[in-house]
Amino acid sequence: MAYNPYDNVLATVEKAAKILGYTPEEYEAVKYPERELSVSVPVRMDDGSVRVFQGYRVQHSTVRGPAKGGIRYHQNVNKDEVKALAAWMTFKCAVADIPYGGGKGGVVVDPTKLSVAELQRLTRRFTAMIAPIIGPDRDIPAPDVGTNADVMGWIMDTYSMLNGHSTPAVVTGKPIQLGGSQGRGEATGRGVMLNALYICEKMGVDIHNATIAVQGMGNVGSVSARLLYEEGAKVVAVSDVSGGIYKAEGLDIPAICQYLSTRGNLLSGYTEDGITRISNEEVLESDVTVLIPAALENQINEQNADRIRAKIIVEGANGPTTIEADDILDKKGIVLVPDILANSGGVVVSYFEWVQNLQALEWEEKEVNEKLRRNMDKAFNSVYDIAKQKGVTLRTGAYLIALKRVVESMHFRGIWP
Ligand code: GLU
Repeated sequence: MAYNPYDNVLATVEKAAKILGYTPEEYEAVKYPERELSVSVPVRMDDGSVRVFQGYRVQHSTVRGPAKGGIRYHQNVNKDEVKALAAWMTFKCAVADIPYGGGKGGVVVDPTKLSVAELQRLTRRFTAMIAPIIGPDRDIPAPDVGTNADVMGWIMDTYSMLNGHSTPAVVTGKPIQLGGSQGRGEATGRGVMLNALYICEKMGVDIHNATIAVQGMGNVGSVSARLLYEEGAKVVAVSDVSGGIYKAEGLDIPAICQYLSTRGNLLSGYTEDGITRISNEEVLESDVTVLIPAALENQINEQNADRIRAKIIVEGANGPTTIEADDILDKKGIVLVPDILANSGGVVVSYFEWVQNLQALEWEEKEVNEKLRRNMDKAFNSVYDIAKQKGVTLRTGAYLIALKRVVESMHFRGIWP
């Protein structure tokens, strides 16, 4: 049967609901996205031709606040993936205890195949087509795989032009010049680094003796790798779509990040003394202390879970591990810090950005990072404690907290009318 990430969401929710002792009516509504919008986006290409791109914006929940979540540009985007990503945002925001529901958007496009001008036209037309359902108090997009601060800037401008006034709070992850927050660019990776440090400490692992493998050297993976390198860990394996590299003595992560920061540069073109070229699978299966999957969904599944040799997994990506793989890893004694906790640093700083925009304030980077650290610390410890107390995995622990918060808000709001 083909992998459907939304089935993964439902199975995880059912598991948590059972432990919490909820009756089906109490959490039935959580199983469905509140609103799904599909759009066909016509774009004039540079050569004069017209192409129509499929796009989506799904609002899974607005029970705890406006929908919140990124927009993905990737050739494999589909409705079920966007639905799953939207639901994960609901639970992520609930674990972080920030006043948002969950949403996600996506466009079926390989952004590396478009010129910057084409990307801008696609973004502006897509924004106009989802404009009726987004807004600072309705649904607030942000970057995700294949999008970045420039794309957020175009969304901000398009929405502002349609409204007749500047509306920075409609989107987060913007350029600083347009009201973006200090620290937002590296917030997801910083959160991953913090969660890796917390779990290592709990397990008695000295970070200076830890080895790290990172799958996916996009924004999340590269920042996680760099910050852990700065903490003294040895990053021995990294990969991107072009394959992986390995060096037992530790890779020169700052040099790799510098190399990859040029648009179009891939790891396959990077050289360093003493590196071995390995496959993406070999990166996932390398014998390290901490594995950070920071690419896409369904990377650790029934087929390869048994071959994973890391002691600890910290999920930088959304949904990299299937529910079947979770059980296999748990039986092998591998400890996994789940996506909705591990990569929540991004949306937490998105929340800070939105708060600054609404108040027309600008916080300094130090203040942002300190607030992020306090939030992560609290979220990690509450998940860790409940998981210990109930004898469940950290993923189930995170869902116990998240689902309870969502269901309690639903209970107090009631079903209208
Ligand atoms: N796309 C990111 C995520 O999956 C960030 C979402 C946001 O900042 O709203 O968490």
